[in-house]
Amino acid sequence: MSETNPIWFDPTLCLIGGKWVPAQSGETLPLVNPSDGSAICQIARGGAADIDAAVQAAEAALEGDWGRMTALERGRIITRIGQLVLENVERLAVLEAMDVGKPLSQARADAIALARYCEFYGGAADKVHGQTIPFMEGYTVYTLREPHGVTGHIVPWNYPMQIIGRSVGAALTMGNAAVLKPAEEACLTALAFAHIAMEAGLPAGALNVVPGIGAEAGAALTAHPGIHHISFTGSVPTGILVQTAAAKNVIPVTLELGGKSPQLVFDDADLDAALPFLVNAGCQNAGQTCSASSRVLVQRGVYDEVKRRMAEAYGAITVGPAMEDLRMGPLISARQKEIVSGFLAKGADLTVAAQGEVVGHAPAEGAYLCPTLFADVPGDHALARDEIFGPVQVLIPFDTEEEAVKIANSTDYGLVASIWSRDGSRQMRLAKKLHAGQVFINNYGAAGGVELPFGGVGKSGHGREKGFEALYGFSQLKTVAAYHG
Ligand code: NDP
Repeated sequence: MSETNPIWFDPTLCLIGGKWVPAQSGETLPLVNPSDGSAICQIARGGAADIDAAVQAAEAALEGDWGRMTALERGRIITRIGQLVLENVERLAVLEAMDVGKPLSQARADAIALARYCEFYGGAADKVHGQTIPFMEGYTVYTLREPHGVTGHIVPWNYPMQIIGRSVGAALTMGNAAVLKPAEEACLTALAFAHIAMEAGLPAGALNVVPGIGAEAGAALTAHPGIHHISFTGSVPTGILVQTAAAKNVIPVTLELGGKSPQLVFDDADLDAALPFLVNAGCQNAGQTCSASSRVLVQRGVYDEVKRRMAEAYGAITVGPAMEDLRMGPLISARQKEIVSGFLAKGADLTVAAQGEVVGHAPAEGAYLCPTLFADVPGDHALARDEIFGPVQVLIPFDTEEEAVKIANSTDYGLVASIWSRDGSRQMRLAKKLHAGQVFINNYGAAGGVELPFGGVGKSGHGREKGFEALYGFSQLKTVAAYHG
């Protein structure tokens, strides 16, 4: 790689058993910069043979140095990975901005979050333990937390670093050996992370990375009989394929499948506090966020004011190349732009309250789209029910608390929700009633807290990532009942 090339490693290779190797087929795939449509580089087109080699390498790691390590030793390595990630934040941010199209400062925040996952999990490694259970006379009973074995990780393109941190980070912490299949549209930081992990002293085979196409490498990973747990983040249809494949091998899966997350704004809300969250939760990463708040439900008494202020905020959003670090970058690809444009067409019967602006000099080949705020949207409209995964938000008016809850719970999803109100009783009531894996009161997202268990209900998926819950999920419980008389 040249001095000026931000990719400091050979991106055409897979990491298998501690060695960087080409896909066995020798084939590669192009990686495209969504800011201008240019070719970034080629990546390996891994397939079933490479996945098989990666699983074997992971099994060998479990039999070898990695499997013999104490929790403390594993924790030190994960912590060291976090330190190296922090030292490489700028380099990682540039890769992510180039690959995903997210503005540089958002990419930087993702790199810092990756480091934070490693710090949290590294420190937690020796703090997850079993229990002793009082039982019948003559017995001593205790439980052990053991790794599943080889874990498969299928990561999407929207937040590669954060999702690798919360998934691979937790799996390694519990002593699993991981096989990671990053998204074909964005895999540079997965490869960079693997280089950093090796530099930090992660033993060969503990982490293997096989880039490739979902239907090839991804499907081979989910179907492989040597995989003992699958963690998947992505769309509902692919999640169903993953769970079906896992069922055939009778292994557990963690599915994080996005959502249609609502924010409920009541007449008594602190609007000055709420406004930045109302907009940002829909527009961050150009709306390509599993926990994006694509629905804003507003009580009638403040509806006009919220609409006016959100419209003003939308009017100030500028969209342009990731490296210019404007408020919003392009979508991940021309394909995603087409999907989101299809949703915008479905909103032809709705009122557009405001749109942001794509800067004039943005390359025509970039996947840019104006962020759009729709107002007065009926709760049962397609744009109020379907996950769009683009910079589109709908404003839905409501009169009563009951009506708000009914609309909020009316989609198939249930990832996160937020309540903006000063009424403490209402906060507690609604926190229980809302169908969601996370509920926020007078905030949205809690700054992404790595400590906070995260996951969905309904079609948003199942299983929990982040926090100690992830460590429980990436381990299995063994009960030992000793009879000693
Ligand atoms: P997918 O769900 O198809 O892709 C997510 C991951 O799964 C990628 O790594 C993909 O690989 C992989 N994959 C695809 N097919 C298979 C398969 N048969 N077996 C195993 N793994 C597979 O999402 P898309 O990228 O196609 O995006 C489509 C829509 O999905 C978006 O518009 C959005 O609605 C939703 N989505 C939700 C995300 C979330 O955070 N919840 C993240 C991304 C998308 P590859 O990229 O190589 O195809």
